[in-house]
Parts: sequence; C-alpha cells; structure tokens
Amino acid sequence: MIIQGLLENKVAVVTGGTRGIGLAIVRKFLEQGATIILFGSRQETADAAVAKLREENSSYSVSGLAPNLNDYTDVAQTFQKIIDEYGHIDILVNNAGISARESLYDYKPEDFDKIMDLNVKAIFNCSKAVAPYMRDSGGGCIINTSSMVSIYGQPAGCGYPASKFAVNGLTKSLARELGKDGIRVNAVAPGVTKTDMVANLPKEMVERISAGIPLGRPGEPAEIANVFLFLASELASYVTGAIVSVDGATQV
Ligand code: NAD
Repeated sequence: MIIQGLLENKVAVVTGGTRGIGLAIVRKFLEQGATIILFGSRQETADAAVAKLREENSSYSVSGLAPNLNDYTDVAQTFQKIIDEYGHIDILVNNAGISARESLYDYKPEDFDKIMDLNVKAIFNCSKAVAPYMRDSGGGCIINTSSMVSIYGQPAGCGYPASKFAVNGLTKSLARELGKDGIRVNAVAPGVTKTDMVANLPKEMVERISAGIPLGRPGEPAEIANVFLFLASELASYVTGAIVSVDGATQV
C-alpha cells in the first residue's frame, strides 16, 4: 500500500533522531513530506545523521541541532530559534533515551539521576517549551517514546522502567491538560527493537526476551516508526492520552 503526503507542510522536532528508532521516525516523517529538525546528543552526530539523510534523498528538508535537553533555558532558546526560522512546530517527538541494567545493589545514585534527567525531565522541558507555540497556532501533537517495561517493569536496572512509567504519567496527564488547546499527547511503547540500545544488551538477555515474543522476533525500527507516523497524522485526530504497545504481544 502506498501512503503519501500524510505530513505535508508539517514541521516536526525529533529528539534522539540520529540513530535507532529516532532515525527511523525521522526517515518516515520525511518520506511523508514533513520538515524535520532532529536533535542529537552532540552537534557532530546530528550533522552526520542529516548528511546521511540528504544523501538518501537530496530533496529532504532536514536539519540537526544539539541542545542540552536537561537545561530548560537552552531547550527554550532552541525552540524559539526553530520558530523564528520555520514559523510553526506541529509535531514534537520526545524519543531520546538511555537504558540501565544494574542491580539495585550496584546502582549508583548519580546514574539514577542521569536516566531520569534524560528520559523524563527532557520530555518535560521540550513539552513545556513547545506547547505555547502549538497552542497559539491552533494545536499540535506530542509523541513520547515509552517502552514495554512501562507495563511490566524489569528485573534489573530499575531506573529505566521507573523513567518509562513516568513517561506514561506525563503522557496521560498532558493529554488531559492540553486537549483544550488542540494538542494531542500520546506515547508509543516499543518492545525489543533492533537498535544500538539492544545491540549493547547481553546476548542471553535478548534471547530470553525474544523467546517471549509471540511474533517470534524483535521489532524493526521502521515498524515502530509506522505507529509514530499514524499518531502524528490526521488519521489519529481523535487519539490522545494513549500508550500504544508495539511489541509483538510480548509477555514477560
Ligand atoms: P539508541 O541508543 O539507538 O538511540 C538513542 C538516541 O538518544 C540517540 O539518537 C542519541 O543521540 C539520543 N541520546 C542519548 N543520550 C542523549 C543525551 N544525553 N542527550 C540527547 N540525546 C541523547 O536507542 P533506541 O533503541 O533507538 O532508543 C530510542 C528510544 O526508544 C529510547 O527512549 C528508548 O528508551 C526507547 N526504547 C527502545 C527500545 C529498544 O528495544 N531499542 C525498546 C523500548 C523503548
């Protein structure tokens, strides 16, 4: 089936857009006509992702920035710059995230802060910075990357599921708060997906998780990105406050 132009004239910001699920979302949105500003953790990685995408298709409208997502002032100034250049921001994808797998006994308190800072506070910072622009232009859409661990927890690395439960809490609460301003807020909860994050997990852990996937395999980043595309498009005009599982019916 060929679907085209779902995001024509839309401007989207995608955090963690340099690789993995974020890059697949960026690619999918570009294919559907969106203008993308991807955020990376460093300007060089953002630039490299932009160069790669332009090589794939020179007509793609894509640029890259690297604000410090933990610093509200930096985030707010970056969104202001984007507004100055493009006039509107229609879609924000809060996708940047890190995981953890240490046991509680070994878990460093500073690492707990680090994961909450990126996986949760950055979503607060970006959503707070973008919401007034969306409200003033008649609406918009925010999509957060959660995880299947936000439903099941996980047996080690408790900071990661804790952060993703918080992502769901932000999603549902902001959906209720911002609906009156025409801003839809949803989350996608991927299962095991073939990205660097998974490549860095111990093989036995991936095998154990894969064995519990009824579809019999991890997801591809593009399969996760398809659901972001649906939620970002007008096809999802009455969907807000949803946490959409894309995990092959994983049961752990
Ligand atoms: P990845 O490691 O391939 O990509 C992570 C992205 O986050 C990169 O673009 C990186 O630049 C960005 N990032 C990392 N640290 C950052 C920082 N300090 N500041 C700004 N950006 C930073 O991971 P991925 O698997 O593509 O994960 C993307 C999202 O999907 C994460 O939120 C993750 O929790 C979630 N997720 C992944 C899986 C999976 O199996 N891969 C499953 C469920 C949820």
